[in-house]
This record gives sequence, C-alpha cells and structure tokens, in this order.
Amino acid sequence: MALKEQSPATPKTSRKNPRVAARSIDTYTVQCNKCSKWRVISTEEEYEEIRSKMKESPYVCDRKLGISWDDPADIEYNATRTWLIDRPSIPKTPQGFKRSLVLRRDFSRMDAYYFTPTGKKLRTHNEIAAFIETNPKYQDVKLSAFNFTPPKVMEDTIPEHVVRKIPSIGKSNKKKALKDST
Ligand SMILES: [Zn+2]
Repeated sequence: MALKEQSPATPKTSRKNPRVAARSIDTYTVQCNKCSKWRVISTEEEYEEIRSKMKESPYVCDRKLGISWDDPADIEYNATRTWLIDRPSIPKTPQGFKRSLVLRRDFSRMDAYYFTPTGKKLRTHNEIAAFIETNPKYQDVKLSAFNFTPPKVMEDTIPEHVVRKIPSIGKSNKKKALKDST
C-alpha cells in the first residue's frame, strides 16, 4: 500500500550473491496504474523517461509493446531484492550527464550524484551551476533538470545480514546485550 502512495516507479538492487549485498541498481521497474503489476523497464533511459512523466501520464500496461493487463507481473515485490521507491516526477537526466545513486553500506539511505560529460562528480546544485558557468558548451542545460532526491530504501526488503547503524547502540554494546540476555 505504501508503495502506491510513494510512486509507481522503482529501481532496485539485486542480491545474486547473498553474502555480498549488491549496492547498485540492476533492474528498473514501474507499477501499472491499472492492474498494479510490476513491469520491468529495459533501460535506465526509458525508465527515466517514464518517471519524468509519471504525474501527467501514469504508467499503464501497453498493448502496443505486447504487454497487457492479463500478462503476469514481470517481478513481484518481495525481500529477495532490496527495493527502492523513487519520488515521482524526477526529471530526465540531461544528455551526456549521468545520474548516479549509491546505496550506503548500512542500507540506511541512498545518495544521488551527477557525473558530467567530462566525468566530474557533482553533488549539489551549486556545483552544477559552477560547472555550467565554466563550460559554456552546456549553457542550455537547465539547473531544474537536476534532482538530488534519492529513492527511499524499503525497510522490509533490506537483507538480514546488513549491519544497521543504530544510533546510540554501538557494536560492542549490542554484543554485550546479546551476551547478557543468554
Ligand atoms: Zn497493467
């Protein structure tokens, strides 16, 4: 339920090797606004396109693309993968730039960055403005096309072995607590 309220679009991480938690996105999916089934979107670019228009044109199964409401879901929402729910209407990344999402080691949140066409990593709108100013080649690129809002990490799909940083309880305290309780 929370899913639908958040946004119908979701990239997520894979856990092919469960001992090493994957921290990069390998699958893009959107939820059909009519049948609520999850459809896999093949490329990041296509996913960004759908996400940017989510408010005006909510995603629905498209018969033209050979997907109809009676086809089974491509993927089910469950804890075999870590799911990230995107905020709706994040603009499409400008041509040549790359939006990068990195999941923190403790799975607490993601961080959003942009890489410029020259490979420079930018973390804020100020850095982007400075880059555009010193590179007039990109003067037509709009600042509003950059959005640093990361997707939400879905708590119920975080792998069990991930060590969460719990404020005020250090590792040693946790161990001690365990010891004390046995
Ligand atoms: Zn559908």
